[in-house]
Amino acid sequence: MDKLKREVWQANLSLHKNNLVCGTQGNVSGIDRKAGMVWIKPSGVAYEQLEENMITAVDLEGRAAGKGKLKPSVDTPHHVFLYRNIKEIGGVCHTHSKFIAVFSVAGIPVPVLTTAHADIFGREIPVTPYVDNTADKIGKAFLKTYEKTGCSAVILGMHGLFTVAESPEKSAFYALMAEYCAEVSYYAITMGKFTGRKVRPLGEKEIDKWFGRYHSVRYGQK
Ligand SMILES: [Zn+2]
Repeated sequence: MDKLKREVWQANLSLHKNNLVCGTQGNVSGIDRKAGMVWIKPSGVAYEQLEENMITAVDLEGRAAGKGKLKPSVDTPHHVFLYRNIKEIGGVCHTHSKFIAVFSVAGIPVPVLTTAHADIFGREIPVTPYVDNTADKIGKAFLKTYEKTGCSAVILGMHGLFTVAESPEKSAFYALMAEYCAEVSYYAITMGKFTGRKVRPLGEKEIDKWFGRYHSVRYGQK
């Protein structure tokens, strides 16, 4: 339990360290499925002041579970909605990082222009239509697009990004990689316009090859 709390704390700090958040925005959570408990960043706390013991616990309905003194993030209802509806995930991350925000405003999916994008996501990063933050609208918009595309990162129209993964750390890493892909795509597409050279995504076969290798047991250390 404490291990998960620490992981959630460190994943939240990584958003700040990697320049993915402005002010107190953004949040990462992690779930203990056995205990039915979610650890999440407290609401409105600056990253510079975020201590491990400030990470807040809620149940799967988003109610404070008495394990932290601070109020949980205002985005808690969206996180718990995703945990209730996607049983295989262990971490959720939400950011408004800059280049993701540009694609969210334009309503354009981030195309697969590089092998790094193919490695991590294996498909373009989709954008949902705009939804407001009431009831389950954000969770439902994410879920619908996630189920349709299988992409672990989904951009919410005129808003930002949600990612889901097996752990809090991984969900924050996906947010970092989504921002990297969005930034590269923005510059590549812009440069293409200026130079008249057509910027084309990688072919489906190539994308599958890179994605398959990255997500196979052969990649990385044991
Ligand atoms: Zn937001």
